[in-house]
Amino acid sequence: MIGEDFNRRTALNLMGLGLAGAASGALAQAPGRKLGYAIVGLGGYATRQIMPQFRNCRSSRLVALVSGTPEKLARYGDEYGIPKTHRYSYANYDRIRDNPDIDIVYVVLPNNMHAEYSIRASQAGKHVMCEKPMAVSAAECEAMIAAAKRANRKLMIGYRSRFEPHNVLAIQLARQAHVGRTRIVTAEHGFNAQPNQWRLDKALAGGGSLMDIGIYSLNAARYLTGEEPVSVTAVESTDKSDPRFRTVEDQINFMLRFPSGAIADCVSSYSSNHNRYRVVGTDGWIDLEPATSYEGQRMRIRKDGKEAVRDVPPGPVNQFVGQLDHLSECALTGRQPIVAGEEGLADLRLIEAIYRSAREGRQIKLA
Ligand code: NAD
Repeated sequence: MIGEDFNRRTALNLMGLGLAGAASGALAQAPGRKLGYAIVGLGGYATRQIMPQFRNCRSSRLVALVSGTPEKLARYGDEYGIPKTHRYSYANYDRIRDNPDIDIVYVVLPNNMHAEYSIRASQAGKHVMCEKPMAVSAAECEAMIAAAKRANRKLMIGYRSRFEPHNVLAIQLARQAHVGRTRIVTAEHGFNAQPNQWRLDKALAGGGSLMDIGIYSLNAARYLTGEEPVSVTAVESTDKSDPRFRTVEDQINFMLRFPSGAIADCVSSYSSNHNRYRVVGTDGWIDLEPATSYEGQRMRIRKDGKEAVRDVPPGPVNQFVGQLDHLSECALTGRQPIVAGEEGLADLRLIEAIYRSAREGRQIKLA
């Protein structure tokens, strides 16, 4: 599921030629053209991480907002100079169809709303960026992919780490066997979840730590190996007397076996802090900590018996800008995003297998 032209673009990235668009020549075809984004859901991630980044984009601009809270529409609409005609509620959301300024809809809602709002955006003729996890079931992901295909529009998932230079380099080094053939990937992601939030309500979140943060361990295991697992084994540990975990899991550890024989040993937690991964090859290891945070990534490599911090050039744009512009440039050129809907679907299928393995206490073989 990794994009075919990934290696070529990775190499170009590392040469400092830009994270996505420069490699495609998209801007040469459409000088000065910026695609218009509508943001759906004005919560923490949208307002603090995504919206401030549009000013740094070269192929994307913020043109519309969708929210169920009129005060937020007014506040952020004024702050970002969004005209009243381009501010929508959930009730009149489908009218985005009639707004030619909106090219792309970015769904940043609780997980159980991703499928509905993505599908309605596709039906309105818009390209879609949807946050991770893509949806709360593989069946929903399939419906989203079908809707985007029917509309002949792009569908991309917000896997921002694929645009972060340390991760891009780690993928390249691991796949080129820089530390030998990959035998083990360890990946740990977790945080101590605050009580009383939608993430702890299964109806809204679809699951617990795995849906929200463990998905980074899962996705990294797949992008570092470049393989799809053939089996999964999982063990859950949740203190059901903790009021945070009435409906969702806390800790769930899972092991993936890949066709090459490599094994990924993964941690997902809502009660302890983790953000790292390590690729262990036959001749050494590549370690990122933090690995998938918003900033501050640090890479260490052990090779030929020597251990050193690897300096990674920051790249021309950060991961958020890289992600936003990648979809715009794919929409302009017709290319498939490197993290299209199929990537999100692959993760959701595995998440379902991980839950099943933990529930049934056995290894699940994957087709
Ligand atoms: P948040 O709670 O801060 O925001 C959620 C937004 O949805 C709010 O504006 C809220 O008003 C709105 N909403 C609409 N209906 C709701 C309902 N029934 N219950 C609760 N909120 C409702 O959450 P967030 O952290 O911004 O997460 C939103 C999405 O973004 C999630 O899917 C999450 O996984 C994803 N996310 C991704 C990253 C990343 O790094 N890629 C980081 C954080 C969040």
